[in-house]
Amino acid sequence: MSGRSHLLNDRTAERYRHSLTDGVGRVAARIARTQRPFTGVTPAELAPEISGIDLERPLSDPAAALDELETVYLRDAVYFHHPRYLAHLNCPVVIPAVLGEAVLSAVNSSLDTWDQSAGGTLIEQRLIDWTTRRIGLGPDADGVFTSGGTQSNLQALLLARDETCRLVRKNSETPLRTAEILPRLRVLASECGHFSVEKAATLLGLGAEAVIPVPCDDSRRMRPDALAAELERRARAGETVMAVVATAGTTDFGSIDPLPEIADHCERAGVWLHVDAAYGCGLLVSRRHGLLDGISRADSVTVDYHKSFFQPVSSSAILVRDRAALRHVTYHADYLNPERAAEMAIPNQVDKSLQTTRRFDALKLWMTLRVMGADAIGELFDEVVDRAAETWRLLAADPRYETVTEPQLSTLVFRHVPRHPADPALVDRANLHAREALAASGEAIVAGTVVDGRHYLKFTLLNPDTTLADITTVLDLLAQHADRFHATEAARATPPRPALSHPHAS
Ligand SMILES: *Cc1c(COP(=O)(O)O)cnc(C)c1O
Repeated sequence: MSGRSHLLNDRTAERYRHSLTDGVGRVAARIARTQRPFTGVTPAELAPEISGIDLERPLSDPAAALDELETVYLRDAVYFHHPRYLAHLNCPVVIPAVLGEAVLSAVNSSLDTWDQSAGGTLIEQRLIDWTTRRIGLGPDADGVFTSGGTQSNLQALLLARDETCRLVRKNSETPLRTAEILPRLRVLASECGHFSVEKAATLLGLGAEAVIPVPCDDSRRMRPDALAAELERRARAGETVMAVVATAGTTDFGSIDPLPEIADHCERAGVWLHVDAAYGCGLLVSRRHGLLDGISRADSVTVDYHKSFFQPVSSSAILVRDRAALRHVTYHADYLNPERAAEMAIPNQVDKSLQTTRRFDALKLWMTLRVMGADAIGELFDEVVDRAAETWRLLAADPRYETVTEPQLSTLVFRHVPRHPADPALVDRANLHAREALAASGEAIVAGTVVDGRHYLKFTLLNPDTTLADITTVLDLLAQHADRFHATEAARATPPRPALSHPHAS
């Protein structure tokens, strides 16, 4: 077949239907028979399958390529829909959103300009307005879809930086160049905040060291008194705080910073408040909406629909209180979005975005809201938050484990502790081993993290299908792996003795 026969057009619509139906059928079959979240395959085992493919010899036939895909991808993929996938902030996806994904990639609108998207632009704008209303950002709010929380945080801090530069210039008696202002700029973020804040500071020419960590309390929430002290310290040092980043749902603990108090301090100091709600945004549609009190006072907000709205990657947005701030990313190109278009009120989303060509990711959320509605999404999110609370009680009563802090959202950080006191380094290694051994078995996948220098295990619960029985099973498996590790280490440390001297050994 010629290359031309693979182009999607009026003559190939039937082939498109057939090919996609075949592909969908295989994914459906795979999902229906998946018994474990992962096969436990190692990179060394899988790499030859992929390097062995000769990319110079196409198969021509989509069915043959799908057959091949079974071994290079589908067989060993990590399946987030499985109830014992408990690792990272990946959600099972809702079918209306997957349907939206299929539609948007086939039509392939690009959301940079009206003349490449038409209704796509208006649908995205409608969803941005819907989200800003849920947050309560007020009548001048606006925003744009992004590729993820990392990009949303970058854009928020770019807007904060440029707004701050503008104000510094306005208030200065002598003309100041940007290069003179930038070295004085600081960002204050909780010590439990996301690393993308530091990455953004680096990209914005401030350096990662411009981000000053603000201490957290025992619940891993930013301490407002510490924030106030830091704001004062920076002012006394002649530095300019260009933004405070509060987190509504930290990645490890799901902790939500005390937004009302933080907003008070920002207001008093005249500092831009960015709320990173990449994870906590699920609360916008939940019965626990009150946990986000104060978010309406933010200057900018990051939301990741692909984390807590059960949307496929990518689906994310940056929202701002004052749409005028978005002008800092507005550049006009004669061929694309001339100023004349803006004068004619033709909506060109590229005027608000860091990207140019951009996917119509908004369609997934649109289909979700049109089929299921916001409450149904909120109920799913509430279920996983409930499950985390139940798991917390389970762990608190389980002598095999210790925990860090009671969850506000759906993550749990905990660690295995041996029956008899052991060297802390050994306890660390046992937890690392338990996580790796569990993943290698493919029975379940959990995450790991470090708290105060010690290795911990982490559940991220985003699947309403995960039952307490699943969690109990996983805790038993982890404990078995950790116990076995300690037994092996103990056997290595002590020379073997006759079995009779250990009548109670098990
Ligand atoms: C996941 C996460 C991010 C980054 O979002 P991506 O969509 O992965 O780029 C930022 N902040 C927080 C709090 C997150 O949990």
